[in-house]
Amino acid sequence: RLAARLQEAIDRLRGRGRITEEDLKDTLREIRRALIDADVNLEVARTFIEEVRQRALGQKVLESLTPAEIVLATVYEALKEALGGEVRQPTLKERNLWFLVGLQGSGKTTTAAKLALHYRSKGRRPLLVAADTQRPAARAQLRILGEKIGVPVLEVRDGESPESIRRRVEEAARREVRDLILVDTAGRLQIDEPLMEELAQLRAVMNPDEVLLVLDAMTGQEALGVARAFDERIGVTGLILTKLDGDARGGAALSARHVTGKPIYFAGVSEKPEGLEPFYPDRLASRILGMGDVATLAEKVRAAGLEAEAPKAAKEITLEDFLKQMQGLKRLGSFSEILSMLPGANRLGGLQVDDKALKRLEAIVLSMTPEERKDPRILNASRRRRIAKGSGTTVQEINRLIKAFEDTKALMKSLEKRKGRGFMGIRR
Ligand code: GDP
Ligand code: MG
Repeated sequence: RLAARLQEAIDRLRGRGRITEEDLKDTLREIRRALIDADVNLEVARTFIEEVRQRALGQKVLESLTPAEIVLATVYEALKEALGGEVRQPTLKERNLWFLVGLQGSGKTTTAAKLALHYRSKGRRPLLVAADTQRPAARAQLRILGEKIGVPVLEVRDGESPESIRRRVEEAARREVRDLILVDTAGRLQIDEPLMEELAQLRAVMNPDEVLLVLDAMTGQEALGVARAFDERIGVTGLILTKLDGDARGGAALSARHVTGKPIYFAGVSEKPEGLEPFYPDRLASRILGMGDVATLAEKVRAAGLEAEAPKAAKEITLEDFLKQMQGLKRLGSFSEILSMLPGANRLGGLQVDDKALKRLEAIVLSMTPEERKDPRILNASRRRRIAKGSGTTVQEINRLIKAFEDTKALMKSLEKRKGRGFMGIRR
């Protein structure tokens, strides 16, 4: 399982002051292997890992405070983005014609009914079209579902031509004042040429606004070939992933996104007509990684402001940076742990960092002029008294803050000399 493997790789990084390129390589190899275990296509996994590597390096992960957490957060963010980033929904026009396409058993008919129910609750007037010209049983299934949810169903006839279907659908939509037409097309167990040809003709004649490929999340590796075939032959505009209520890990989603580049709009989460949800890329990213709390972790890393920033040299650090950094460390929740890993850090021990203390430190910095924040050396006794008054603190607290700040700068300078790079992730 990915979770276990990833955890192992991450654990190997834990407790180190910094991560080496070699560490990153090992971790990424584990993640790649695990993605493949989760049914992500080999080619897709390779591409994805390469992207993560670029990002991790660009982000200067190698100099970060808690490398293990940041690598994991980077993988999660990249995965979420690869899955589409934000929730996306199809654009609705005044009148809409959507096709549902996919293999037999993928969930087209069920999803057509789900979409009808979903959009009716949003004030649309759906019409279902059972467009399998060869299997009466397939049409009957939609008719029954339509009756159940109270949505009209137009059934095509055996062997009916695309032109005839188009004409009858238009008539029915006009007659019954329907503005969302959902066409449940024929599927086969395997992709075959006659099916593709029939679909391509129907598409050419009816010119749908959306061609939604319905994919069974359980299909795993197969999803890549299916998505590619439908996209190349028919042209797909969006994806719907069904059966996410099962124990599929969701690798199919990544593969389908990779070959089509089209948004995943919805997820099927039960057999019932109500079992449709918008597709949440962040949730599936967590699921693929098999770790529930990655989202929270990524949020923490983001909030700590450690991303995409270049290290600042010791001499450029201001009191504002110092404050921001302490706030960041506080949010990561392991201030004393991090401090204990740093040489000479006990010199900072006099500065307690809890919520209340942070608020007071913040008040002090806010009461300073920009010049004072940049160079506290100009803080003479009268300036310190002014700041204490303005911030509702004491001169002693201000003295302690300045002392800790100067100590940190000195420490950074000595480390810069030793290692020639930034320190503690204090960044621009
Ligand atoms: P079609 O051949 O593509 O039209 O697929 P169907 O709509 O007939 O669905 C095939 C089977 O999958 C049926 O038994 C459905 O009840 C089931 N199904 C479809 N979507 C979901 C889903 O999101 N979750 C679950 N658990 N079952 C689903
Ligand atoms: Mg069907």
